[in-house]
Amino acid sequence: MSHKHSDAAFSRAKRLFPGGVNSPARACRSVGCDPVFAAKGDGAWVTDVDNNRYLDYVGAFGPMILGHGRQEVLDAMRAQLTHGLSFGMPTELESELGALIVEHVPGIERLRFVSSGTEATMSALRLARGATGRSKIIKLEGCYHGHADHLLVKAGSGAMTLGQPDSAGVPGTVARDTLVCPFNDLEAMQALFDAHPGEIAAVILEPVAGNMGVVPPEPGYLQGVVALCKKHGALSIFDEVMTGFRVALGGAQARYHVTPDITTLGKIIGGGMPIGAYGASSSLMATIAPEGPVYQAGTNSGNPVSVAAGLATLKILAHGGIYERLEHLGKALQRGLEEALAAASVAGTVQRVGSMITLFFTEQTGRRIKQLDDVPASAKARFGAFFRGMRERGFLLPPSQYEAWFISAAHSDDDIGATIIAARQALGDL
Ligand SMILES: *Cc1c(COP(=O)(O)O)cnc(C)c1O
Repeated sequence: MSHKHSDAAFSRAKRLFPGGVNSPARACRSVGCDPVFAAKGDGAWVTDVDNNRYLDYVGAFGPMILGHGRQEVLDAMRAQLTHGLSFGMPTELESELGALIVEHVPGIERLRFVSSGTEATMSALRLARGATGRSKIIKLEGCYHGHADHLLVKAGSGAMTLGQPDSAGVPGTVARDTLVCPFNDLEAMQALFDAHPGEIAAVILEPVAGNMGVVPPEPGYLQGVVALCKKHGALSIFDEVMTGFRVALGGAQARYHVTPDITTLGKIIGGGMPIGAYGASSSLMATIAPEGPVYQAGTNSGNPVSVAAGLATLKILAHGGIYERLEHLGKALQRGLEEALAAASVAGTVQRVGSMITLFFTEQTGRRIKQLDDVPASAKARFGAFFRGMRERGFLLPPSQYEAWFISAAHSDDDIGATIIAARQALGDL
């Protein structure tokens, strides 16, 4: 497989962009190789600039649940293009998409569109702080909520550590308001609430963690978080930027029957175009300007082309059948990968919720990953070798052990079968 054109494109991009990329994960550093440059997407497949074809499990890191180039989505965008790209005025299309979201996501009665997931979580935190008059927040180790200052904190490996910024440029004074505890650990969260009475505005989490690889919530965990928040006068924020319309039409909150105070969305609701949203009860959303005192705005918020793409996507998802199909494909891939691990005598575990799936390399076979610290240090190098083995065989995985792979409605049973055969070989070569 030649990478001549990708290599040249990367050399040029490195002179223009830090690391040659416009978002760090794309640089593929943690898997020890250079990125391939995308030229074209078609269904479940991506072709790079050297004309290599790959079966795609990146799915643009989540949005492409229907695969690339779905006709209905392109048609809806084309129709909007002829009418206008952006107005700075409300459009009826925004209400159509808003109504579909309200219909399906239990925790959202009213919402506000923004332009990215980062903006959605940032705004949700401002809403929580504005509504409670408190400033501290709790986030969970290994959960990612975009790159806003308050959320770039994961702290050390201690059970409850005061926030240390993960990034240069985040003031310690800002990070100090972010308290961190491990995922799936209600006692640690309870201890944070006890240590900071009346100070915590919100808990923000991914209800199914996808940004440390797929880590499902333990039974009762999400309900426990919502109850703890209620007890202490804090607001619960489910960041469903990844899980919204992915693990079920109504997101993780519908799948696990638990309703948070505030929900953030992004990725799928834009159908591949930039978008984000945050929503809550009608009364809580009345805190947002111009109805209330919490200011939040955006030139491109609810951009008509993004909204058209998102609306076309959600209409197809709401039509039925897709989540059952994704579950079927996900189950087949999980079973196949588990068998491939066993056949190659490689220690690992496969974790999945619907069409989000991660193969974790572990020290003991079958050891489940329940929180970030459960991923052994040895996993990174093993995953890197596995990633490269899969890419050479024409299968593109997200370039880190700490990412979810995404199955789309464009993947076929045969695609899954071929993936399993390649995984057997790649694991055998480790
Ligand atoms: C991707 C993601 C974000 C950030 O969204 P952007 O559009 O990249 O800013 C936030 N939260 C979660 C859970 C995500 O997966």
